[in-house]
Amino acid sequence: MIINNSLDEVKKRENALSIIKNIVETKGRNFLFDLTGLSGGFIVNPSELSLLETYVGPAIFEDALQEVGIEHMGGEKVLPLNRTSSGILATILSLVNENSNVVHYLAKLPAHPSIPRSCKLVGANYFETDIFEEFKIPDNTSLVIITGSTMDHQVIDENEFKQVIEMAHEKNIPVLVDDASGARLRTVVYNQKKACDLGADIAITSTDKLMPGPRGGLMAGRVELIDQIKVKVNQFGLEAQPPVVLAMLNGIKNFNEDNLIKSFKRKDELFDLLSQKFNNFEKTPTGVMITAEKLACEISTSHNLSDNDLAFILSFILLKDYGIITIPAVGMPGASATIRFDLSTTDAFNLNLNDLNKKIESSFDKLQSIVSNEEKCKEIVFTF
Ligand SMILES: *Cc1c(COP(=O)(O)O)cnc(C)c1O
Repeated sequence: MIINNSLDEVKKRENALSIIKNIVETKGRNFLFDLTGLSGGFIVNPSELSLLETYVGPAIFEDALQEVGIEHMGGEKVLPLNRTSSGILATILSLVNENSNVVHYLAKLPAHPSIPRSCKLVGANYFETDIFEEFKIPDNTSLVIITGSTMDHQVIDENEFKQVIEMAHEKNIPVLVDDASGARLRTVVYNQKKACDLGADIAITSTDKLMPGPRGGLMAGRVELIDQIKVKVNQFGLEAQPPVVLAMLNGIKNFNEDNLIKSFKRKDELFDLLSQKFNNFEKTPTGVMITAEKLACEISTSHNLSDNDLAFILSFILLKDYGIITIPAVGMPGASATIRFDLSTTDAFNLNLNDLNKKIESSFDKLQSIVSNEEKCKEIVFTF
């Protein structure tokens, strides 16, 4: 095993960032291809920078965000947060009592870890399922959660979405929607309604997912709930700071639906190319992916590595040899080790898919040729 704990994950991430820095400094940003789908961005106009003061910034940009954010998310009021995880934590701190139940329905497990972790923090009982027929709302439930689109971009069925909301509202229980990528994926690619328009009381999206914004969370919903949650957000310092609010505002304004729709079509082409050599790639709405477990099935040489190790090593080969950024190399500890090639962001438009396919094939061949040599594998992940 190469990656054994969170410290190892921090170390590999530091190394990935050093490799990225080195590519930018020696070759230039054009030699990097961020295919994470989380490439984010920080669009600002120089004239806006001078307004980024502690109190002037929010006065101007939070106000502007109300209009633009409500248009994007629906609801009556929006609240910008440091991350989606911060919004989930604040909602649970505000609405969930100790020993009460929180039930969560999503298209496919696992849930984002911030949900069970926050429930644990307040001492609530947490239940989750991806089987609609098994979804029940027991007595003493304080919050119902729905994930619109999972971390691996599995999208919920809109009828099930509506039915869960109805079940909750029959019992007067508020509904929180984790719509991190779903706020765009569901609505643009699957023509579903905005979570708030479907009746959700609170919805949160990640402003760096499938849009050119900074890492942050944008919450929308019913004004009295947003206000109640905002109190906790401010008490614990979970709010987005003025520079992030500004970049969120500009990110939403620059969000381009056509890019998502184009990637929805192009992913079939990439999938067909990859399937000539591999059996285990899967389509996502805007790209392709291979889980660590499925990657292990592709390897025919014997080795002692874990499935996740294989994904980490492949992700580093892609980065070092071709400047292709995927989540396993750069992700935070605990992030999914699935290798996803997302075609929805700017860098992907400059890639020829035949060429990308060849780069993935040759990175895989390299992985296969070194798996039995653990020292060499460590070197790839931890040194640059
Ligand atoms: C990314 C993601 C989150 C968390 O977003 P952060 O910005 O990392 O806090 C939560 N839920 C889902 C479904 C996600 O995909």
